[in-house]
Amino acid sequence: MELANKTKTRVYTFGNKKADGNSSMRNLLGGKGANLAEMSAIGIPVPPGFTISTEVCTEYNQLGKDEVINLINSEVELAVAKIEKTMNTKFGDAKNPLLLSVRSGARVSMPGMMDTVLNLGLNDDVVEGLAKKTKNERFAWDSYRRFVQMYGGVVMGVKAINKEDLDPFEEIIDNLKEKRGIALDTEFTVQDLKDLVFDFKKAIYRRIGKEFPANPWDQLWLAVMAVFDSWNGKRAVYYRNMHGYPADWGTAVNVQAMVFGNMGENSGTGVCFTRDAGSGENLFNGEYLINAQGEDVVAGVRTPQQITKIGSQRWSELAQITEKQRKNSYPSLEEVMPEIFKELNDYQQILENHYRDMQDMEFTIQEGKLWILQTRNGKRTGAAMVKIAMDLLKQKLISEEEALLRIEPNKLDELLHPVFDPKALKSAHVIAQGLPASPGAATGQLVFFAEDADKFKNSILTRIETSPEDLEGMNLAKGILTARGGMTSHAAVVARGMGKCCVSGAGALKINYKTKTMWVEGKEYHEGDWISINGSTGNIIDGKVATIEPELTGEFAEVMKLSDRYSSMKVRTNADTPEDAKVARNFGATGIGLTRTEHMFFEVDRIKAMREMILSDTVKGRKQALAKLLPMQREDFEGIFEAMEGLPVTIRLLDPPLHEFVPHQLATLRELADEMHVSLESVKIKVADLEEFNPMLGHRGCRLGNTYPEITEMQTRAIIEAALNLKKKGIETKPEIMVPLVGTYDEFVAQETIIRTTAEAIFAERKDKVDYFVGTMIEIPRAALLADKIAKRADFFSFGTNDLTQMTFGYSRDDAGKFLPIYLEQGILKHDPFEVLDQEGVGQLVTMGTQRGRSTNPKLKVGICGEHGGEPSSVEFCYNNGLDYVSCSPYRVPIARVASAQAAIKAILS
Ligand code: ADP
Ligand code: MG
Ligand code: MG
Repeated sequence: MELANKTKTRVYTFGNKKADGNSSMRNLLGGKGANLAEMSAIGIPVPPGFTISTEVCTEYNQLGKDEVINLINSEVELAVAKIEKTMNTKFGDAKNPLLLSVRSGARVSMPGMMDTVLNLGLNDDVVEGLAKKTKNERFAWDSYRRFVQMYGGVVMGVKAINKEDLDPFEEIIDNLKEKRGIALDTEFTVQDLKDLVFDFKKAIYRRIGKEFPANPWDQLWLAVMAVFDSWNGKRAVYYRNMHGYPADWGTAVNVQAMVFGNMGENSGTGVCFTRDAGSGENLFNGEYLINAQGEDVVAGVRTPQQITKIGSQRWSELAQITEKQRKNSYPSLEEVMPEIFKELNDYQQILENHYRDMQDMEFTIQEGKLWILQTRNGKRTGAAMVKIAMDLLKQKLISEEEALLRIEPNKLDELLHPVFDPKALKSAHVIAQGLPASPGAATGQLVFFAEDADKFKNSILTRIETSPEDLEGMNLAKGILTARGGMTSHAAVVARGMGKCCVSGAGALKINYKTKTMWVEGKEYHEGDWISINGSTGNIIDGKVATIEPELTGEFAEVMKLSDRYSSMKVRTNADTPEDAKVARNFGATGIGLTRTEHMFFEVDRIKAMREMILSDTVKGRKQALAKLLPMQREDFEGIFEAMEGLPVTIRLLDPPLHEFVPHQLATLRELADEMHVSLESVKIKVADLEEFNPMLGHRGCRLGNTYPEITEMQTRAIIEAALNLKKKGIETKPEIMVPLVGTYDEFVAQETIIRTTAEAIFAERKDKVDYFVGTMIEIPRAALLADKIAKRADFFSFGTNDLTQMTFGYSRDDAGKFLPIYLEQGILKHDPFEVLDQEGVGQLVTMGTQRGRSTNPKLKVGICGEHGGEPSSVEFCYNNGLDYVSCSPYRVPIARVASAQAAIKAILS
């Protein structure tokens, strides 16, 4: 191991309009730390503090606790002294104490990370001092009980043991409330708060046998180490794996002077967004609570109020609250503290202009003074992502290139998902109304625990509120529904990030975890019952609701148009039917890159003829059966050509092993024998004969066409005749006939010869001609190696990266499910190579195949048609390798179009 460098900087301070760091240093300072530094430097009021860098987290994992404290001790002491000077207080001093918050912060915001510890530095002496100094005993003891509670849970690990168990501290609070006959935390007396601190400490000792640390410095170091530990905690690891973030990034630790939103009626805390994170509307919005601290707003304990008056009015309409009630009980910050509101409104504008993106901010008001505690680019839905990017472009805050780079291609998927059919909605029975926390439509079966989300194919995770432990289940569920919490609750924020439909804060739902039931409108719902939720309106609907396909309109259409201006690489689609072809054309496909002809044989009357062909022993018998298939195939191709109106269509000749087409049930075998006038026994023998030990490497692809040339002849005839028939009708076609699974030059030439001879014969018969092309899939490593030779005779190559991946890795596609998940979990593989093109290995074959192919045939057209054709990083790789097109499933066409434009822009920028 490398020896730790003693001289480098590990601690970066900020505050007082100065900072050691800035927003470009997020890898080192984490997102939160980098932005705290940046805000401080541009004059936003941020409580002073310091950031311990992410590198120290890595050092901690290598060297351990003592070694690391040694390394940063003196820097931390200096940094604390600096805060003391700015705040004019002293850490650990009983008369004039400085209290700190300890906050985690990786380079990307991670809901799986450690919870923040607030009010650190309090003990039995300091609390008295704080009470005296602020002349606010209630505030001091409220802060202390919060501190012991948070520290006990987060740092000392005293939490609920299982899902039925209550949080031990909440349990104590609930018991006391019951005893005192009160409902809200704010109703506790000073003596209650003192009792709580005492009981909390006792509970901690009872659970883990350790005293609560009284020394503020001990408190601080343990908290810092707990943040480092949380980087390898279960939740964080899950989140990291889900997003592919490497383990060596580490997290930073932010230590910051406390400011207090719980000092009374002129204090408060809140969260706000510069634009609407759900719809993208350019409207400042957010939530706040008076006399509250930290996460109170998101925790859903009290109903948060809206920041702006317009937001408040919209909210009250949804919550079915009268204007009078709203003004009295839930007024907006704009109405309650107009001065503070104005200041906050200025800062949100400054920050959005500064970062040139929608910001998600946290703030606290301490006795009439506003502090900003965090800003970051806000998480948003796919719809908001598209709208905000285009709006910022129109406002000239960002360029076209930036607007395109702001689109996360995979997130467009959300906009391509079905929405509720307006006709079905008319007769829907709305049982309750929540907040439209994350748009979309979801129909599914009720589950009440995250662990149960996989019980049904479509589940709606329904909870009183969600927490970071629920992440995995939220990801699996079709939609998320909560009884508590506002637009900035955990459920809402995480759902928007995941692009998952969510309705939050539906107070009418009475959820009982113990019985797994939900009461609403006088009806009891059980686990497994169907409900529907509309994340765009907040409606909760009884039973299932039908859905329809969305349309490519508005800002989405604008993004698509813009994309096409920047990318030279074309996007085609994989389509086997005219219907698929039409969907893909609506999404902007410029051709078909792969039509799998075998899918056409599976329909009822066709499969019979197909089976006859396969099971007959003679060429004559096969030809008879193929003659029955010819008109059907021809009709299929006519349909597809017509749908594509002159755009190129690549048709792959028969590819799969023949035994896939034969039946195995006795009854079907008997029927087949009767139809073919042969004995059942002989059919059975033939079927057994077709069995292969390793069908993936067996009698398939061009090996079929070369051993049964009549198949290639028939398929060529169907394609060419279809093209000629359409020509007669005045419809142009561009057929490209593709030979699958070629490994040697002669294999290809043999097939090419059959195709061209057949085509010429038809032209002579019909006394008419069409242009057509003959090419091959490159999906066997040997073909990539000999691409220069094969390209001499081929018009085009299409990399079949599914098989190419299978054969390059030697992983059977059909069996990889047994080990790939484990490889991914252990980090032996970073990605599933069947999802994300392995650029390092398989990619070399793509690069080589393209270069060698074009070296002998400069006009060679090259594309890709595996699953990778719609995966953004693979699309970028294809662009950089000069491919003419990528081909993907219809629903991924828009994603590939944006990814292709982004690749072009990135290539120019670098
Ligand atoms: P997260 O990453 O989960 O947002 P944060 O570290 O931002 O966690 O903080 C959790 C809560 O504590 C937020 O509401 C934040 O505003 C509040 N908080 C953090 N630091 C301070 C501080 N120095 N003074 C007052 N409140 C704070
Ligand atoms: Mg935060
Ligand atoms: Mg293949």
